[in-house]
Amino acid sequence: MDATYTTKEAAAILEIGQHTVIHHIRRGNLPATKHGRDWSITKHDLDAFIQQRRTPGRPPTHKVCSRCHIEKPMDAYASKSTEKWGKQNACRACQSLHYQEQRANGTWRDAEHLRIYKRTYYAAHKEYYSKKHREWIAKNRDTWNAWRRAWGRTPIGNASNRQRLLSRRARLKTTQNDLTRAQIQDLMQRQRHCAYCKKKFSATLPATIDHVIPLSKNGPHTLSNIVLSCQPCNSSKGNQLRYLL
Ligand SMILES: [Zn+2]
Ligand SMILES: [Zn+2]
Repeated sequence: MDATYTTKEAAAILEIGQHTVIHHIRRGNLPATKHGRDWSITKHDLDAFIQQRRTPGRPPTHKVCSRCHIEKPMDAYASKSTEKWGKQNACRACQSLHYQEQRANGTWRDAEHLRIYKRTYYAAHKEYYSKKHREWIAKNRDTWNAWRRAWGRTPIGNASNRQRLLSRRARLKTTQNDLTRAQIQDLMQRQRHCAYCKKKFSATLPATIDHVIPLSKNGPHTLSNIVLSCQPCNSSKGNQLRYLL
């Protein structure tokens, strides 16, 4: 006898919601027999359904809302790029009701709140995420190295890598070091020209991080002591403070 599945089991196999499975049964896309309060689907029918789903077709014109379970045209759903067919699971009406409920019962969270929430969550689970990250890198070494190289070739990536090197050096030399990568990236957005010769930075004339008071003269590794300069100006300045005069 052929194996049978409940709608819940079928939903898990198909990686879709149970309501969507029931919807397909009601529309006759998926043959099933009523079995108590649930449906029973044979393995043969489920396999045929999977096969049919794999065949590329046109995007659907309608889908079932995950909240009100009413079939509605696709433009009744707001966009959501991560979902299949680029639409939210709940229709606009249900979604807006849901937001209203959240506002009423005080569970509504604005974007700023979410940002803080995500940041604290990440900070609390940093171990977990960096472990995941290291595992991913170990598995995808080539992809990762290619990304790293491509990132190093972009102006911001280049400056960022230099900042890391400098930070490491600065940590050994001075206790005053609180320059972050974000600060450098922000500076890169604002300062497009060399602080000394005023030439515009480009791929052939990349920006370098320059300590106004050099690290060797106990200058701090902080934003207030940093300017962007081109490589020739940076190396000609060396350890001398003449540009300050
Ligand atoms: Zn709805
Ligand atoms: Zn210059």
